[in-house]
Amino acid sequence: MQQQVNIQTEVRKLVKLQEIDTQLYSLNREKNEKPKILEAIQNELEQKKQVLKEYEERNKALLLKRKDREGQLAVKEESIKSLQSKLYTLKTNKEYSTMLTEINGVKMDKSLLEEDILKLFDEQDSLKKELDQKQEILKEEEKKSEEEKQKINNRLKEIEGMIKDLDAKRAVVEKEIDGKIITKYNKILKGKDGLALVAVEHSSCQGCFMNVPPQVINEIKMNDKLIFCEMCARILYIQDETTN
Ligand SMILES: [Zn+2]
Repeated sequence: MQQQVNIQTEVRKLVKLQEIDTQLYSLNREKNEKPKILEAIQNELEQKKQVLKEYEERNKALLLKRKDREGQLAVKEESIKSLQSKLYTLKTNKEYSTMLTEINGVKMDKSLLEEDILKLFDEQDSLKKELDQKQEILKEEEKKSEEEKQKINNRLKEIEGMIKDLDAKRAVVEKEIDGKIITKYNKILKGKDGLALVAVEHSSCQGCFMNVPPQVINEIKMNDKLIFCEMCARILYIQDETTN
């Protein structure tokens, strides 16, 4: 049986198979990359949403601070009113001027609080503007991400279809190849990341680009048996003589 195997014919089939496998490995690599890209897009978006959340938190904190100051302001206003109402019950000039000083002190506190409140309003205003802008940008980015994801998912579907077709094609070609040879080829294919059969061009192996000695080239041309690259162990062939 072994004698009847025509190496040249088998290698021609292997060339066809390697063409299919090269496409398959490339498509599978692309297919495996896509989920990572999708994840990266999602992560980037999440980070931006997180920034927005921080803005919203800051806005909330400012609002609480302002409410607190407004509460304090109301207390000061009450206290001014009550002090002023007592002013007319006072008997002496000294008591009167002490009370006035006290009222002025509270009024000063009050105007400080008012300044504070205005500043907080301003801060909130500019924060709100920034927040609105960022929300607008995020909306745009979400739209873009969605389109990007859609594109990737479409490509994934396309890839899966192509892989299915190539798998079917591969099965047909594989069945035609001698058992021992295909076993060897498949083993190298797995071990060498999808490249099992390589041409010799200008005396160099197109798998590892090392020099192939003339006697090895002669051995390939004899078509007695499979010849392997001494460096990378891939199956070697000479393009012109095995492909038509
Ligand atoms: Zn090599």
